[in-house]
Amino acid sequence: MMLFLYFIVALLGVSFGSFLNAIVWRLHTHNKITERSKCPHCLKQIAWYDNIPLFSFLLLRSRCRMCKEKISWQYPLVELWMGIVFVFVVWFEWSVVGMVFPIVVLHWFVMWVLSFIFVYDLIYMEVVDSITLGSAVILFFIGGYVVWGGEWFPLLIGACLGGLFFLLQYILSKGRWVGGGDIRIGILMGVILGWKLLLLALWIAYVVGAIISVGLLVSKKKTMKSQVPFGVFLTSATFVVMVWGERILSWYLSFLSF
Ligand SMILES: [Zn+2]
Repeated sequence: MMLFLYFIVALLGVSFGSFLNAIVWRLHTHNKITERSKCPHCLKQIAWYDNIPLFSFLLLRSRCRMCKEKISWQYPLVELWMGIVFVFVVWFEWSVVGMVFPIVVLHWFVMWVLSFIFVYDLIYMEVVDSITLGSAVILFFIGGYVVWGGEWFPLLIGACLGGLFFLLQYILSKGRWVGGGDIRIGILMGVILGWKLLLLALWIAYVVGAIISVGLLVSKKKTMKSQVPFGVFLTSATFVVMVWGERILSWYLSFLSF
């Protein structure tokens, strides 16, 4: 029975992964959300049987049926990731917190938004404001009620801190260190995590971001001038802190209390 439930949840997650890919492509090409899927190379419409998440990619051996161009690995990877994450959220809520359905749905939504920002920033080095700010507003009101039980104060402080943190860098560097999109991600992170865990997530994002940037510089894959998609680090850190934040924090504080 449990296995069947996880299977259904995985299918749901994979479908939302497919939806994520579609939205990324449509927002980038300014196509309508409701438009039918097309091959990005030959622009021919994709039949429904070639548009089944994961399966079609395997059946077509990663090539478009019409033009035989390679289909990007982004599609199956994002679908698989969302399937795993949806199952993980249910498993986590079930075994750690005790299953509360509205919280599960809300955390699915958070994971979807974080993954969207991650993918979009990684591919196009851009942050879509409507997604970031729109979900920040939704998560503040609904998340504040469902997850935080009406305790909006830590979220409000978190949103202000997250926004100000990047706004300050933006002003100081005249927009060279961080982009306007990072300010909005900061607000979103504060709304998801509350101010305490937000600080931890920022710290992790900066440390990991610095290590990887130095690594890329040393291996000459990037120069000092080239941009690093910082939203990728911010969303990853938010994910890690959402799941393990409390544990990391108490582990860290146990060092201070010697
Ligand atoms: Zn094609």
